Amino acid sequence: MNKNLPVYFSKQDGDLWLTEEEREDLKISYRIKEILFEGQSEFQHVMVLDSYSFGRMLVLDGIVQTTSIDGYIYNEMISHVPLCIHPEPKKILIIGGGDCGAAKEVCKYAVVDQVDMVEIDKLVVEVCQHHLPEVSGPLADSRVQFIYDDGVNFAENKENEYDVVIVDSSDPIGPAKSLFEKSFYQSIHKSLKADGLMVCQSQSPIFHQEVMQQTYQRIGELFHFVKLYTAVVPTYPGGLWSFTVGSKNYINPDPARLKDKETHYVNKDIIERCFSLPQFMIEQYPPF
Ligand code: SAM
Repeated sequence: MNKNLPVYFSKQDGDLWLTEEEREDLKISYRIKEILFEGQSEFQHVMVLDSYSFGRMLVLDGIVQTTSIDGYIYNEMISHVPLCIHPEPKKILIIGGGDCGAAKEVCKYAVVDQVDMVEIDKLVVEVCQHHLPEVSGPLADSRVQFIYDDGVNFAENKENEYDVVIVDSSDPIGPAKSLFEKSFYQSIHKSLKADGLMVCQSQSPIFHQEVMQQTYQRIGELFHFVKLYTAVVPTYPGGLWSFTVGSKNYINPDPARLKDKETHYVNKDIIERCFSLPQFMIEQYPPF
């Protein structure tokens, strides 16, 4: 494995361990059953591992992205919340999301006519559909169009097209760095219809305060509404994870839209309450 990646394998008492270096002072180790896939694409290092605690894990450039044990929490939260806010989400753009979990959730809504899935790295989609069916599902839905492109390039050329944009990006390093820039949010704003809204994953309120604050500020300066919500995703450092919604018009979710959707984490109470923030976040992120 490339020595510059923030990850390494080691052996302890005959067991294989993967250690992810979150920061200089924080490492997380997983006991590994098997390396199912390892390869290098044009964009990043890609692995799928079978682990004891988290089941199958997608690891990109040494960072765990999603797992078969808790991937549904993140994917349901990044999809159902915006789709319960917009009253008629017909045309959806997903940027990133190569594990296909967000696309799977979005397709549960009959009102959705078209899902444009813009992922930079085809290898991630192929590997997840093969090794991570619990996360990606079969995705044989004719409403989903796969477009292999950089989300920044794709969004630049769009105007007044989408009802909802979901930015399901990896961390703001490597190919995803530009998905956290203000110019990218400006393109997203332009790509949305007059009553459209966007959501993005905005990292950990505990460990990534700078990125979170920047994201909140940048989206807040562009959109009429900006609001944060959270979920606890055990795989991610610190557990508590944030999502930022920027909306031109609607901001209150209608939990009734969840009716008949098969979910494992999201329910009506969670949709209503996920915007209730811990006190330290209310103080750090006063409403615009
Ligand atoms: N749930 C995950 C998390 O928060 O860690 C992220 C899910 S998904 C695996 C992230 C995807 O974003 C990856 O498949 C990656 O290839 C894709 N990606 C990164 N940069 C991108 C870009 N500039 N344009 C489009 N997709 C991008």
